[in-house]
Amino acid sequence: RQQKSKMPTYPGLERYKLIEKMGDGAFSNVYKAHDLKMDRMVAVKVVRKFELNAHQRANILKEVQIMRQLKHPGIVELYDFSESSEHYFLVLELALGGELFHRIVKLTYFSEDLTRHVIVQVAQAVRYLHEEKGVIHRDIKPENILFEPIPLIPSPPGAKPDEDDKEDEGVFQPGIGGGGIGRVKIADFGLSKVVWNEQTMTPCGTVGYTAPEIVKDERYSKSVDMWAMGCVLYTLLCGFPPFYDESIQALTEKVARGQYTFLSPWWDDISSSAKDLITHLLCVNPSERYTIDQFLAHPWIKAGETAVKAEP
Ligand code: ADP
Ligand code: MG
Repeated sequence: RQQKSKMPTYPGLERYKLIEKMGDGAFSNVYKAHDLKMDRMVAVKVVRKFELNAHQRANILKEVQIMRQLKHPGIVELYDFSESSEHYFLVLELALGGELFHRIVKLTYFSEDLTRHVIVQVAQAVRYLHEEKGVIHRDIKPENILFEPIPLIPSPPGAKPDEDDKEDEGVFQPGIGGGGIGRVKIADFGLSKVVWNEQTMTPCGTVGYTAPEIVKDERYSKSVDMWAMGCVLYTLLCGFPPFYDESIQALTEKVARGQYTFLSPWWDDISSSAKDLITHLLCVNPSERYTIDQFLAHPWIKAGETAVKAEP
């Protein structure tokens, strides 16, 4: 029924048969594609070189260089990178479940258990980035958190298809993967940066000669991801972001002052433990903000571990 729309072809990308467009950014398109050599489905991010200035081109190469060093179940893997005269091609692990952003829109908001299931996976990936790789993502948001819906069971024969469900996602097996939403993966390392030398776990550069403001800067630079995680956590639980204003200037003011509230009635039934965790992430002073290890040790996160253990 759906007419296959014409897919573009790119010189240099013959190994991959583009199937459909999955997303687009300012300078790139992301396609679902068939890797003919490996016979597997992948995502290909095609970046148009000519629209980028030298700085932006260098950033793409940095994105690639950082992604190459990463291997974690909570992070989209970079399989391959190549370029032609007009494009960069990033061949990525495919996350078929789409953006967390779309899930929030679809479900309005998440239960505390489902929120925990999602944010713990994000946190484990962030812990890997911060503590093992010295990488700061710097663009954590629901558009860059993708799903991989593993636990699919085929619909029983003769079952009436769910007409509301336009995305053909199959049926999620209840109970598996925390309410059946699948694995979560962080994507888009376009703004990421490395701060620590992996071997010595010291700031980059010659340690003894690094100025104090740089040392201080780098100590707190990871906290930008923790702030973003606070925003994601808040948004998951109620369905709207902690900071919002139609005027950019007013919004900037609110963020700068850390001016947010647990708005009634939406927040009335959400546990005080969840609110406590958010309070420790959305604090303006980065030295007071939770680190990733403090986040993972918080009682609200730990409550999930005992709940899982209690299951038969
Ligand atoms: P940009 O820098 O333009 O934001 P992203 O890497 O975030 O580029 O990709 C843009 C969008 O493409 C994502 O928000 C997502 O919807 C989709 N996308 C990116 N990578 C993948 C992937 N590996 N699997 C599935 N969809 C993806
Ligand atoms: Mg993005």
